[in-house]
Amino acid sequence: MTETFVTYLLPGLLLRKIHKQAKPAEKSLAIDTAFLQKLSRNHQFQKASENIPETKSRCSEHKEEVSFMCSTCTVLVCASCVTGNHNGHTFSKLVDVIAKLRVENETQIHVKTNEANQNMKQIEDNLKSFEYGVDSVINAIIKRKDKIKRMIDKSVAEMITLVKNQSKKQKEKLMLMLSDSKSLLVAGQTIEKRDRN
Ligand SMILES: [Zn+2]
Ligand SMILES: [Zn+2]
Repeated sequence: MTETFVTYLLPGLLLRKIHKQAKPAEKSLAIDTAFLQKLSRNHQFQKASENIPETKSRCSEHKEEVSFMCSTCTVLVCASCVTGNHNGHTFSKLVDVIAKLRVENETQIHVKTNEANQNMKQIEDNLKSFEYGVDSVINAIIKRKDKIKRMIDKSVAEMITLVKNQSKKQKEKLMLMLSDSKSLLVAGQTIEKRDRN
């Protein structure tokens, strides 16, 4: 949690340097969690130009509020440190450092928000073209089904016609045979009658 937050709040080398270089006593200053979390909460809802948090960390050596950043040592220091251990070092006002970090954070958030929006738009576009692709495939399947159905209907109709024609011919043939048989029978009976007389 703290580690994520630290990276988030202080992008770049700054906090990592503090983390690395700070001596035990200074470390408690460099990563005062409560202080940083308050900064984070304010950051969510305030502009960089607004006030810095009311709660300030105190220098563990002098018990004074830290109000400077020693650029030479990359630690937060109080006014007494400036003229004491850090005499001759380069300093920035804490308010300026915080304001700068806030601006950097806001820029990063803006960039990330834009990236997220672009990603979402890309995903939506992909989804649309995917849906379009699915529709095209379904339409192609339906067209193919209609074509196959027409072919089957035509084939069945042809088969029915063929069977009807063949059965008609066969029937005519059988009728003819029956008729021939009757004729033969009649002829036979006539001969039989004549022979008897
Ligand atoms: Zn001090
Ligand atoms: Zn220093």
